Amino acid sequence: MIYLALTHDWELRGNGSGDIEEIQFEPMRRLMAIYEKFGARTTFMPDVMQQITFRKFQGQHPELKRAADIWDEHARTAYAAGHDIQLHLHSQWSDARYEDGRWQLRGAWSLLKYARDSSEQMIAEAKRYLENLLQPIDRDYRCVAFRASALALAPSTHLLSSLAAIGIEIDVSMAAGFYLHNETLQLDYRHCEETFLPYYPRMDDARSVSEKREPIACVPLNHFYGSRREVTKQNLALAAARLNRGVQPSKTSGQRAQLDTQTSGVARVYEKLIEPALKRKYFVSDLSRLNYPLMREMLASIRRRAQSSNLDSVPVVLTNHPKDIRDWDGLERFVSELSKAEDVEFITLSGLAEKISSGEFQVKMK
Ligand SMILES: [Zn+2]
Repeated sequence: MIYLALTHDWELRGNGSGDIEEIQFEPMRRLMAIYEKFGARTTFMPDVMQQITFRKFQGQHPELKRAADIWDEHARTAYAAGHDIQLHLHSQWSDARYEDGRWQLRGAWSLLKYARDSSEQMIAEAKRYLENLLQPIDRDYRCVAFRASALALAPSTHLLSSLAAIGIEIDVSMAAGFYLHNETLQLDYRHCEETFLPYYPRMDDARSVSEKREPIACVPLNHFYGSRREVTKQNLALAAARLNRGVQPSKTSGQRAQLDTQTSGVARVYEKLIEPALKRKYFVSDLSRLNYPLMREMLASIRRRAQSSNLDSVPVVLTNHPKDIRDWDGLERFVSELSKAEDVEFITLSGLAEKISSGEFQVKMK
């Protein structure tokens, strides 16, 4: 049996931009309507640093208070409807300015760049925020699961110990195979020792499996390799959509400016979409980035790996970014099929943590 945890990183864009109604509230309501239709209980993982920062500035800016109140209301409604709410946080909000209705986020994007005290404080405060918000609805609510901003969890001498110390039981940041190296983020998960099943991590480097039971377990964020055929098809469709947007005539720009946009548009599309598809087909299992055929390929890969694990029950964590969902129809069709599949059950992250502590899900060690 595959216990599938559908999770959602629920947040504004990484630089604090984006209309909160359009990219957070509306897509959450739309997702909940889909899940209700098919009886799926899922997990929303709000970036709580964002919300805490809205609260910090709300005294001088009533529009921030309004937005933060609506945020609370959405989180409560989702929880009351049977979904789980667990913790995600983006550390760049730790040093924020708000001017002329715009955010400037100056904190480091990677939690790995903060000293133990400050990262632990951020996580503890965010965890408290969720518990204060939800315990009035359910006295037993506890924040037990965590996903780091931009998946930056390892290596760190202290991050896992901090999480365990404040009561986090499972982490869902480790996407094996993921690699990112730019000015803001440097992550290398290409050589993770366990890429599919829950495991006890070495406390100073979650990429390695510990030799003993640890106070926190990692449940990998699933990944898969899409077929070249479907990847290329999806990328060409995206490229076409982008080019169409790029050549929309605008009232302010002249012919020349339009041509420039077009040219750089083509170059960008090649660099970002076509070239990677020719070289590699790695995907983090993020439903917002997949069309329906790729979702099917992901599920086939999960089934193969579950089968070869020889375990009776296997938890699998997928992610999603409501702000980026491209294929709503595909998503609905996929959720509908999952709800009918005999070898798949939906599980929340709280449910997953419970089955780990009860021993129903095995956790690997070396
Ligand atoms: Zn995020």
